[in-house]
Amino acid sequence: MTPNQKTDTTTQKWAPFTYIGRETAFITNLFKKANLRITLRTNNTLQKLLMPKLQPLDKYSRSGAYKQTCPDCYKAYVGQAGRSFTQRFKEHKNAFRSNRNTSNYATHALEHSHPFGPIHETMQI
Ligand SMILES: [Zn+2]
Repeated sequence: MTPNQKTDTTTQKWAPFTYIGRETAFITNLFKKANLRITLRTNNTLQKLLMPKLQPLDKYSRSGAYKQTCPDCYKAYVGQAGRSFTQRFKEHKNAFRSNRNTSNYATHALEHSHPFGPIHETMQI
């Protein structure tokens, strides 16, 4: 640091900034150039991260009957998960990626160019 930069810090302003990801770094860099320091804070408190997400994640670790719904046309396929819903979903996803004919849901998505979708949006148990 040069002596010049040190005197600059006394006039520096601090702006609270909510961290949202890579975009924030880009924006904060712009602010740095404008000699405006950024204090980063996050919306994800530890409690927020741990508490509400436990429920939906847990339910997919069980097994049983499920419905897989296309996020594009809402056509639904009913199936049975022997081990866990997460495992069954992975099998659907693998069938989708490798274009194997082992999942009616994956075959539907491939044939109609519909998105596969994430587990919490497409799999109802
Ligand atoms: Zn569809």
